[in-house]
Amino acid sequence: MEFDWSEDDLQHRAEFQAFLREFLPADWEELSEGGPGSDVQAKFSRQFCHELAERGWLTQHWPSEYGGHDAPPWRHSIIGEECWAIGEPRGPQYMNVNWIGPAVMRFGSDQQKHDHLPPISRGEVLWCQGFSEPEAGSDLVALRTSALRDGDDYVINGSKIWTSYVNHADFIILLVRTDPKSTKHRGISVLLVPMDTPGIEVREIPSVVGERYFHEVFFTDVRVPTSVCLGPEHEGWGVVTYALQYERVGAARYARAALSLDRLAELARERGLLEDPLVVDRLAEARTLCEAARMLTYRVIDQRAHDLPPTTDTQIARVANTSADYRVGELAVEILGPEALEYGSFADANFRLAMTAGVAVGATEVQLNMIAARHLELPRE
Ligand SMILES: Cc1cc2nc3c(=O)[nH]c(=O)nc-3n(C[C@H](O)[C@H](O)[C@H](O)COP(=O)(O)OP(=O)(O)OC[C@H]3O[C@@H](n4cnc5c(N)ncnc54)[C@H](O)[C@@H]3O)c2cc1C
Repeated sequence: MEFDWSEDDLQHRAEFQAFLREFLPADWEELSEGGPGSDVQAKFSRQFCHELAERGWLTQHWPSEYGGHDAPPWRHSIIGEECWAIGEPRGPQYMNVNWIGPAVMRFGSDQQKHDHLPPISRGEVLWCQGFSEPEAGSDLVALRTSALRDGDDYVINGSKIWTSYVNHADFIILLVRTDPKSTKHRGISVLLVPMDTPGIEVREIPSVVGERYFHEVFFTDVRVPTSVCLGPEHEGWGVVTYALQYERVGAARYARAALSLDRLAELARERGLLEDPLVVDRLAEARTLCEAARMLTYRVIDQRAHDLPPTTDTQIARVANTSADYRVGELAVEILGPEALEYGSFADANFRLAMTAGVAVGATEVQLNMIAARHLELPRE
């Protein structure tokens, strides 16, 4: 097996790094501190993604019929690593290219593909994800937001919570119950809803993660045509599980964790802390976690490159990524002490993000449950 990047891939990375040096503003680090949901970053992401699209890099891994260049998923992972490591200049659009577009490709009608894929591949549109509800997080099938048929329309009522980036979104990919008598995984559908539809209200939830990161979204008699349903009506659970497999390894957390670790090691060196074997040992241990997360993520990308169906390797990679991220955040506090929690410092920004990583896209415990049941085939209680 060949573990090295090809010459072409190395050149692609070098070109992309040169583009970042040229295109990102000098104060990017400061600017990116508010996170992808901040006003300034959401605005910047439109410019940035447009530039990426112009160079054929934004959705290069998509088929050419949908605005891509038929590139292997490895090419897209190079862009993902470089972007995530420096604070994701694609803003919320990383979700579009990682999994919302692929879900539309896989389940969308011809009209939906025509309407949604070109604007995503041109970098013109922001999407958000409306899955979680106050009583339906880890247990997502407990969702209660309903979309009931009225002629050729659905009428949506209910609310979503923790919705990232919704304040800037043009569309929401929304999980609803379309069969009011249904329970659990049945009777659920996925709708592609324009955010300017009357009856949608957004309220911010202040948080430590970043500026304008979390929101509640309320739907009151929101009327949309039934043609916005993605995939078969009442069978949205298949759509959502497909999408989540992509989302779980979409963000190259190991890349950001490894970069933060380099900065931490440099600070430790400057302060003479590398004389302490315990510090060296901890830095090495964290580096190992980052490398393990990278390798386990590559395994999932390799499966995609070979068109193989998703496996629990996705959950394993996710847990490795969030563990590496968290360990680096924690280590910064151990090594730098209270200074690591100074607002605006790289260590603080990293720690705040790392704290939530093991909750977003399904809590770590839930991922571990899946690994135990499906991968290790341990008996369920
Ligand atoms: C940074 C971030 C961004 C997010 N963005 C979005 C978004 O854009 N759209 C969206 O829809 N949602 C979003 N979420 C919500 C996220 O999907 C939920 O927080 C997650 O699914 C957990 O649900 P919950 O918060 O209701 O926690 P709960 O389900 O109440 O779980 C709380 C804790 O209980 C434990 N637990 C729960 N169930 C089990 C179990 N079966 N076994 C063992 N332990 C268990 C876990 O420790 C878990 O952390 C985001 C969350 C975060 C942190």
